[in-house]
Amino acid sequence: MRRIPIMAGNWKMYKTLAETCDFFRKFNPLVAGSTHCEIVICPPFVNLQAAVGATRGTHIETGGQNMFWEKEGAFTGEISGAMLRAVGSKWVLIAHSERRQYFGETNEKARKKILAALDAGLTPVYCVGENLDERQAGATHEVLGTQLSGGVTGLTADQFLKIAIAYEPCWAIGTGKVATPEIAAGAHRFIRDQVRKQFGADAASSCRILYGGSVKPDNIRGLMAQPDIDGALVGGASLDPGSFASIVNF
Ligand code: PEP
Repeated sequence: MRRIPIMAGNWKMYKTLAETCDFFRKFNPLVAGSTHCEIVICPPFVNLQAAVGATRGTHIETGGQNMFWEKEGAFTGEISGAMLRAVGSKWVLIAHSERRQYFGETNEKARKKILAALDAGLTPVYCVGENLDERQAGATHEVLGTQLSGGVTGLTADQFLKIAIAYEPCWAIGTGKVATPEIAAGAHRFIRDQVRKQFGADAASSCRILYGGSVKPDNIRGLMAQPDIDGALVGGASLDPGSFASIVNF
């Protein structure tokens, strides 16, 4: 099965409104012909509406970096899936490692958010990945298996078909230490095998698994040459229009 790659930019807590508009002024023409993949930019919430406006009429889509699982209510500081949809976004990152590390995200919270995102008509990108100690202790597969099953347990195969997975080894995020294509490919193969066991062969062959962690224009080709890598989740290098366009147009 041919899987259309996803190239997603996670802007984290970077860019003002003016910087957001400036980015798209430069980025849009650079990817106008890049129909080989889906392009997603996840800016801070306050700039989502501007990003949606700036990408109207292009094939660039936008997403949230997080959401809450309740539909509405007294949850100060949170936003819902319906709010993301209403602003025109179609994607949402769930359980990014920085959310796990700094904001108490757990597999169980991620599971509720994935279900709520699907309910709102969003495509969740569920992030999993081991930290350096876990890799050095030989526990990578155990960690990935636990995160994966914890986040998607209870989903039907049909629901699972609507989500994407991002494998992001924490030791490679924002560190400049990209996983070698072979290391990344090994983890992706393991994740796809787990998907096969949990949801069956069709889900495994159609599930898109992105790699994230210090992706740059000069390492994207080696990563994308791996058969189980279906795109990239890019932090730092997505902030610059030229560099993210080079990644998209690998
Ligand atoms: C990320 O934010 O998901 C990420 C992978 O960051 P970076 O590309 O900067 O390592």
